[in-house]
Amino acid sequence: MTQKILIINFEEIYLKGKNQKIFIKQLVRNLKRKLTKYQDYLQFTKAQGGSYFIEIIKEIPKDILEDIVHIVKNTPGITGFYVADTAGINMDEIIEKAVAHAQRYAGTFNSFAVVAKRINKSVPFDSMRIGREVGSAINERLGKKVDLTRPDFKLHIKVRGQYTIIYSKIIPGIGGLPVGTSGKAIAMLSGGIDSPVSTFMAMNRGLHITAAHFHSVPKTSPQSIEKVKMLARQLTKFQGQIKLYLIPVLDIQEAIAKHTDSRLRLILLRRIMLKAGEAIARQEKAKALITGDSLGQVASQTLENMKATEAATNMLVLRPLVALDKKHIIQTAQQIGTFEISILPHDDACGLFTPKSPETKAQLKYVEEQCRKLPVDELISQALAKSEIVIISDTSLIKPD
Ligand code: ATP
Ligand code: MG
Repeated sequence: MTQKILIINFEEIYLKGKNQKIFIKQLVRNLKRKLTKYQDYLQFTKAQGGSYFIEIIKEIPKDILEDIVHIVKNTPGITGFYVADTAGINMDEIIEKAVAHAQRYAGTFNSFAVVAKRINKSVPFDSMRIGREVGSAINERLGKKVDLTRPDFKLHIKVRGQYTIIYSKIIPGIGGLPVGTSGKAIAMLSGGIDSPVSTFMAMNRGLHITAAHFHSVPKTSPQSIEKVKMLARQLTKFQGQIKLYLIPVLDIQEAIAKHTDSRLRLILLRRIMLKAGEAIARQEKAKALITGDSLGQVASQTLENMKATEAATNMLVLRPLVALDKKHIIQTAQQIGTFEISILPHDDACGLFTPKSPETKAQLKYVEEQCRKLPVDELISQALAKSEIVIISDTSLIKPD
């Protein structure tokens, strides 16, 4: 028999009118994919009233249930969900299970109300009687008082087809939109604090992300790549599996250093990164590039420099962090579990050849003139030919928060 049921709500998806069906279908597909390893325990059922059920259909170890709850909690598109207990459709069992459920939360409330509903009309008792009998059992056995107007704790009981569901506290989800419903994008993922946050924000607006990281191995350590893999792994808890491109840029950096104005090194490298991102986007059928730029955060992230950088590509460049201050970005990084990884010491490709006085107000015309000194297309195709693609999928390595 069904042991427990996760009842999923998705408010924002309701707002989508006739697209609603597509959104829900995608959400369920995402959930099924993320929960593949536990599929033997699960059954997905569309419920009446717009919610969705994930039924636990056999005895389940506590840590697996916890992991399932953690995965559901971190799936974009879910505003909240309940973990419901189940009982048969006879009054004695409903009372026993309801009291046991309430007892688990006993420390959190003094007053309570029972909200009962009978969907299966063939049982020999009505919802009023369920409310009354369960109410008095909780009152007698747990010493809590009934308050139907402003209860601390609401216990929902629904008698459905062949079983009853009992639930109370909603577990908040991360909201947003199901990954994939907004299309695909390429996220430029460094080892820093910002880009994992911008990648997460893009996922949470329904984008399916492929990540691109540019490295200068062997001039930078191989650990810098391990760190980016760790960040990507942490981000799989939202999207599920992530494809990560690792692109070597040392040759490009050397060409830039040799042939161009040193003040423009970073901008020229960023331009090439975006152009390489564009090539990957074509391959992956993605329609935008995502970066972790935040206006004015560092001297190089000025309007002039952003303009001179993004002019290298015709692609839409999205910067989810553009107006956020560092404090807010760090808070989000802590919440999504990337901060601790981002602050590990590492050497980044960009840090490797930062000039003493980088340009902060680049003139596009001059940048383009300098860019023409480089065989850009050739450099990019060589780098891409040497790039490595890894599929990051291990959500089980992530500790629940
Ligand atoms: P981050 O913390 O994301 O590194 P940052 O504040 O350090 O950001 P920059 O280093 O100037 O800013 O980078 C701006 C953006 O350019 C990054 O957020 C990222 O999207 C992209 N970027 C920078 N370096 C790399 C890299 N080595 N590989 C991929 N993308 C990069
Ligand atoms: Mg950086």
